[in-house]
Amino acid sequence: MQFAFNADVEEFRREVKQFLTAEYPECETDAGRGRLFASKEDEYDYTMGFQKKLAARGWLAMAWPKEYGGGGASHMRQLVYNEEMAYAGAPSMNMGIAWVGPSLMLYGTEAQKQRFIPRIAGADDWWCTLYSEPGAGSDLAAMQTRAVRDGDDYVINGQKIWTTGGHLADWGWLAARTDPEAPKHKGITMFLLDMKSPGVTVRPLINIADRHGFNEIFFEDVRVPATQVVGEVNRGWYHMAVALDFERSGIQAFAGGRRAVERLVRVAKERPALVAQRPGVRTELAERAIEVRAGTFLAYRVATMQAKGLLPNHEASASKVFGSEMSQRIALTGMHLLGLAGQLRDGSKDEVLDQATSYLQAASATIAAGTSEIQRGIIATRGLGLPRG
Ligand SMILES: Cc1cc2nc3c(=O)[nH]c(=O)nc-3n(C[C@H](O)[C@H](O)[C@H](O)COP(=O)(O)OP(=O)(O)OC[C@H]3O[C@@H](n4cnc5c(N)ncnc54)[C@H](O)[C@@H]3O)c2cc1C
Repeated sequence: MQFAFNADVEEFRREVKQFLTAEYPECETDAGRGRLFASKEDEYDYTMGFQKKLAARGWLAMAWPKEYGGGGASHMRQLVYNEEMAYAGAPSMNMGIAWVGPSLMLYGTEAQKQRFIPRIAGADDWWCTLYSEPGAGSDLAAMQTRAVRDGDDYVINGQKIWTTGGHLADWGWLAARTDPEAPKHKGITMFLLDMKSPGVTVRPLINIADRHGFNEIFFEDVRVPATQVVGEVNRGWYHMAVALDFERSGIQAFAGGRRAVERLVRVAKERPALVAQRPGVRTELAERAIEVRAGTFLAYRVATMQAKGLLPNHEASASKVFGSEMSQRIALTGMHLLGLAGQLRDGSKDEVLDQATSYLQAASATIAAGTSEIQRGIIATRGLGLPRG
C-alpha cells in the first residue's frame, strides 16, 4: 500500500520549507529545539514578529473559515504545515488562533468578533489559556476561581497555574466558576481577560530545565466587563470543547522526534567512540527511528479521519500518548549515547546538543494537554469499550 499526499499538498510543503529556510535560519542548525531569549521582551518581539510573517502569508489562521480572514485550509494542508513547523522547531503555536478565535466565531458577540478576531489573525496580541488550578488539572471541572457579577462587571478571585506564556500574554482565555451551587460542569463561564487588569499578578514558575515557560496567575478583585463574557453564562465547560475541528493529529511530536533522532544519528556517526563505548545505543537508535516512523502514521491517521469529517477521539489519544512517551525515550537515548557529555548545558564549550535540556524538557510531555493516564483511560473506555474503573 502506498501512502502519499496529493501533489498540491506536497507543493505546499515545499513552499513552507522554502519559507522556513529564508525566515527561520535556526531550522538549518542544531538549535531546532527552540531559540534562547535574552529577555521576555526579546521573546515577545521575536515570536510575534515571526507569527506576523506567517499571518502575512495567510498561514497563521489557515484553518479558519475564509469569512473570518482565514484560509479555509484542508486538514492535510494543516498537517504538513504543522509537520514542517515542528520539524524546524519554529515558534508557530498560538492559542489565540487555536481556540480563542474559533470559540469567538461560534459564541462571540458581533462586537467581540470585530474587536478580537482581526487582532488574533494578525498576531497583534499574545493569548494565554487560564484553565488549570492547583486543585483542578485532569479534573478541570473542579476549578474554584470565582467570577461574581457586580453591576456591569464580573469580579474575579482565585488562582490559575501552569499558564504557558502568562508572563508574555496581552490577553487571557479564562474559565471561572459563576455558579458554585450547580453541578461542577454546569457552573463555569468563559471570559476574555486583559492581562494588564489591576489585581492580576503573574508569578514565574521555572521548570526543571531552568526555563521560564509557565506561570502562576493570581486574581484579586479583578474586574472584567460583562461584555467580555463569551457565550452563555454557566455554559463555559461546553464552550471550551469547540476547537475540535482543528488539525489535532499530534504530528508535532513525531516531526520534532524525527529531527531529534536525525541529530543523534549524526552525532553517533561523527563520534564513533561514543558508540564503541556503548554499543547498545545502536539498537536504541534503531528503535527510536522505527517509533518515529510508526507514530507519524498514527498522526496521519487522525488527520485522515478529520479530512473525512470523522471526529477522532481515542485515535488522537493514542497519537498523544505514543508521541509524548516516544519523545521522552528519544531524550533518554540521547543521554545514553552522550554519556557524561549529555549533562553539559547551554553555553558549554562542548555542549554537543545540549542534550540535558532536551531530556529535562521532555519530562512534561506526558503531563501537558492531558496526562498519559487520562489518555489511556480514553483509549480503554472509548476505544476498547472497557468498563470505567
Ligand atoms: C508544559 C505544560 C504546559 C501547560 N500549559 C498550560 C496552560 O497554558 N494552561 C493551563 O490551564 N494549563 C496548562 N498546563 C497544565 C496541564 O493541563 C495539567 O498539568 C494537566 O491537565 C494535569 O493536571 P495536574 O498537573 O493538576 O495533575 P493531576 O490532574 O493532579 O494529576 C496527577 C497525577 O494523577 C493522575 N490522574 C489524575 N486523574 C486521573 C484519573 N482519572 N485516572 C488515572 N490517573 C489520573 C495523572 O495522570 C497524574 O499522573 C500545562 C502543563 C504542562 C506540563
